[in-house]
Amino acid sequence: MIEDKNPQRTPLEQLGEFGLIDHLTKNFKIKKSSSIKGIGDDAAVLDFKDKQVVVTTDLLVENVHFDLSYMPLKHLGYKAVVVNLSDVYAMNATATQITVSIAVSNRFPLEALEALYAGIETAASIYDIDVVGGDTTSSTTGLLISVTAIGEVDKDDVVYRNGAKPNDLVVLTGDIGAAYMGLQVLEREKEVFKVNPENQPDLDAYTYIIERQLKPEARKDIVELLKDLEVKPTAMMDVSDGLSSEIIHICKQSKVGVELYESKIPLDPEVISVCEEFKIDSTTIALNGGEDYELLMTIAQEDFEKIKGNPNLTVIGFITEEARGMNLITRGEQVIPIIAKGWNALGDH
Ligand code: ADP
Ligand code: MG
Repeated sequence: MIEDKNPQRTPLEQLGEFGLIDHLTKNFKIKKSSSIKGIGDDAAVLDFKDKQVVVTTDLLVENVHFDLSYMPLKHLGYKAVVVNLSDVYAMNATATQITVSIAVSNRFPLEALEALYAGIETAASIYDIDVVGGDTTSSTTGLLISVTAIGEVDKDDVVYRNGAKPNDLVVLTGDIGAAYMGLQVLEREKEVFKVNPENQPDLDAYTYIIERQLKPEARKDIVELLKDLEVKPTAMMDVSDGLSSEIIHICKQSKVGVELYESKIPLDPEVISVCEEFKIDSTTIALNGGEDYELLMTIAQEDFEKIKGNPNLTVIGFITEEARGMNLITRGEQVIPIIAKGWNALGDH
């Protein structure tokens, strides 16, 4: 589906391992004061003074987590960074550094890795982080990319999943379900393309959801917003697997129950219309779709005035005593127990 606009194919052997590392990393400049030593020694050296340090890592495997027939490599590089930064922000921390490890087969020319690194560089610049290391090795089949993200946070500001209390408000950023529906459209177009390679898909009606799938953003802005509003959530995590499995994590770790309101779940109009087109219930997608990288948090009642009316923050329910269980109140006021399906269970990955 994605045309190869880069006809030049320089074999990786031509550069050798060290030449390749130098070539890919030569543009990475150190910006953060906490980065004492970046790429080029046996290890990076970081100094966080009196801050606490958060570390998180993700491994992405070709044809398990991404499909290069519709995922441009530049977007893949960007997304691989963003999904890790999202975990740092979910701790209410500031992301400062990443390391990037790749395993590549000789199927990939230098130009492919240049595109991947262009995406990594763009993300590093937009999110203001340093790339301070990584590893490069060969693979016999596909592409693997692993990013480790590091961040800093004041000891008193760190937010875990286990602090939610009865009566806290459940707050969600942005809107959800779009990345999953974007994936459905891309998968459908891929099948069409297999049958008719001449077919140029018209994706105009799906711009938002495809962008949410191919180029997600992490909510760095929310960590800053919460600081400005002087709100410290009682619990927080990012929405990578789907709202239902994430709220269950918060409830189980905090030993509380929850009531979520179907009518309050924020959906983009494009998600609603694509769900109609695919004849799927949009609430099911909101609960079980994945990869939105929004933040799900719980906030004490007394902080409601501070967040009220903010377009980035939607109250979707409240925390209850554990014994009341975890329930969704539907538009018809039915009470339905929340169960974790997660997007894996939806059968695509
Ligand atoms: P080592 O032999 O210790 O594994 P390498 O020769 O692999 O060291 O790496 C040299 C330097 O380049 C190190 O600072 C390492 O962190 C960095 N590096 C290696 N591969 C990558 C990569 N794919 N992306 C970013 N930095 C990398
Ligand atoms: Mg190495």
